[in-house]
Amino acid sequence: MKTVSIIVPCYNEEEVLPEFYKRSVDAAAALQNDGAGWEHEWIYVNDCSSDRTGNVLAALAANDPRVKVINLARNRGHQIAVTAGLDFAHGDAVVIIDADLQDPPEVIARMLSLIDEGFDIVHAQRTQRPGETVFKLWTAKLFYTMLRRIGDVKVVENAGDFRCVSKPVAETMRAFREPHRFLRGMFTHLGYEQCILQYDRDVRHAGESKYPFVKMAKLAADAVFSMSSAPIRAILWAAGITWGLGFVYLIYSIVTFFTVGINEPGWTSAVFLLTVYTGLILMSIAVIGQYIGRVFEQGQDRPLYWVSKTHNIKSDQFELSIPEVELARRTVVDDQEATTSSSMAEPKVFLAERPADGWATGLAASR
Ligand code: UDP
Ligand code: MG
Repeated sequence: MKTVSIIVPCYNEEEVLPEFYKRSVDAAAALQNDGAGWEHEWIYVNDCSSDRTGNVLAALAANDPRVKVINLARNRGHQIAVTAGLDFAHGDAVVIIDADLQDPPEVIARMLSLIDEGFDIVHAQRTQRPGETVFKLWTAKLFYTMLRRIGDVKVVENAGDFRCVSKPVAETMRAFREPHRFLRGMFTHLGYEQCILQYDRDVRHAGESKYPFVKMAKLAADAVFSMSSAPIRAILWAAGITWGLGFVYLIYSIVTFFTVGINEPGWTSAVFLLTVYTGLILMSIAVIGQYIGRVFEQGQDRPLYWVSKTHNIKSDQFELSIPEVELARRTVVDDQEATTSSSMAEPKVFLAERPADGWATGLAASR
């Protein structure tokens, strides 16, 4: 029997998780009755939520050994939460899906049939995006147009992170450890046999989007600066154009000197040139700074994430020797312990210990 590992990044998703679990279990059962030959396991990555997500997941794990849970000790963002899931996924296929039911779990069956046909990466492309704000749709369109123009970053338009990949792809992806991650671009970059599966996206089942504008803008910057050197090429172009303009202006000045003589004070043009060149120089430093910042962070070589607690993950599953997994070895909870600690009807939430500055609000609550 083949196994599919379903990675579910969760940040403050207590309201949607029970329904997500129910619907994906039903979808898995339907697939098994079909005789398609796929067993399911879920890898829920709790991205240091500050609500009761950790408790909900612990309770699910206590009742269903197929539910594996990784609690991150600090909020690291969606892309790294998915990366953590990938490190612990051992299935013959791996699915990445959001917890909020915008991506219907029923689509997974169609993805797996494409994997059975021999494809390695199945991108799920949204044909409809109901419930999104006009602003989000508009900025997304602008973003994809920009990526298309740059040309270096190949992505499937209108495909988010809902994706199914074969085991070789998941294993290859684990070797890519850059801290600034744009997973949809990275997967497309890997090659292999890729295909697109279209589906209708639903509205969020409950709760609010955990991707505010700032996080979206950060992801967009990662897409460009981590996947492409186009901005540096753009500086070259801008420098070339301003040099060209400066040269034309020099010829104009020489010609007017010999024809009409110096009859303009030159203040405006001097200020104009000064501003244009200073602007260009500052912009160039900022663009190069983006790359240097990334080199600095990569040079620090810190682990991408660190785990505070796991459920239903056995130590013999730790075959990788990357710092993240080495660190997680400390925190593996014996299955027995997981069952006893999480089968409490109403687990305690120690919110009182929350630090005043609130930077790690999730820490106390997710235990
Ligand atoms: N998410 C996460 N860490 C974060 C933000 C979001 O793990 O810091 C998860 C979130 O729980 C959800 C998925 O990433 O499962 C996508 O987030 P969301 O649905 O809020 O984004 P949107 O669909 O609005 O772009
Ligand atoms: Mg969503």
